[in-house]
Amino acid sequence: MDNSFIFKIFRGTPGNQYWEEFELERKPFLNVISVLMDIQKDPINRKGERVEPVVWEQGCLEEVCGSCSILVNGRPRQACTAIIEPIIKATGSNVITLAPFTKFPLIRDLVVDRTQMFENLKKTKAWIESDGSHIKGFGPKVSQDVQETMYVLSTCMTCGCCSESCPQTNDQSKFIGPAPISQVRLFNLNPNGQGTKRERLKSLMGEGGISECGNAQNCVQVCPKKIPLTESIAVEGREVSSQMMKDIFNIEDRES
Ligand code: SF4
Ligand code: SF4
Repeated sequence: MDNSFIFKIFRGTPGNQYWEEFELERKPFLNVISVLMDIQKDPINRKGERVEPVVWEQGCLEEVCGSCSILVNGRPRQACTAIIEPIIKATGSNVITLAPFTKFPLIRDLVVDRTQMFENLKKTKAWIESDGSHIKGFGPKVSQDVQETMYVLSTCMTCGCCSESCPQTNDQSKFIGPAPISQVRLFNLNPNGQGTKRERLKSLMGEGGISECGNAQNCVQVCPKKIPLTESIAVEGREVSSQMMKDIFNIEDRES
């Protein structure tokens, strides 16, 4: 293998996408973002044509904001932590493909519109209501075990890798996706989130809700934060069933 590698990028606008190749020099510690920056400085493709610079999204550059999520060799992940050398070594090929996510509306090149994920977080009330209770002093104690569970759930960066990999997320479905379900678990575990627990559970009932998960478990395999998504789906599945029974028999939730 020589000292160069190829970026094969699926780029363009909706209805007009095409593959374009760029040849670059192999250097230690390059990541996908730094290579895209190099292309931006001098956007000449492999045919020697000067082209429009590739468009991508980035934010924190430390796998916290999720904005640079794309398909690298077909796998959903963050471009900032996709290091070139290990990818070439793992595949034995010096061609690396980059493509935008397919489950979100395409804007241009590698940028998609992830608004739907944030809308789903709104739908599930993925926050704690500020009711002024902070003036009463410290809130209820949270056990170490619950804190540990909550911590990992709180690392979700709404990157969309889980929805991208999920076969139930597609044009034909309104499935809310695994990340908002896991956020319902997070905020329902919080003692200060009990007031809106029932509303969160109700947002997971019906069309597009938790029952549309087919348990393929792709989501948990691609989550960069190793969030136990299938465990969250199982826990919330039980909570939703229990809430449905309470609603049928008009039973008040004692914790709320
Ligand atoms: S659950 Fe994981 S894969 Fe899904 S949006 Fe959150 S961080 Fe990304
Ligand atoms: S387990 Fe459910 S949410 Fe996860 S990929 Fe499968 S269908 Fe999608």
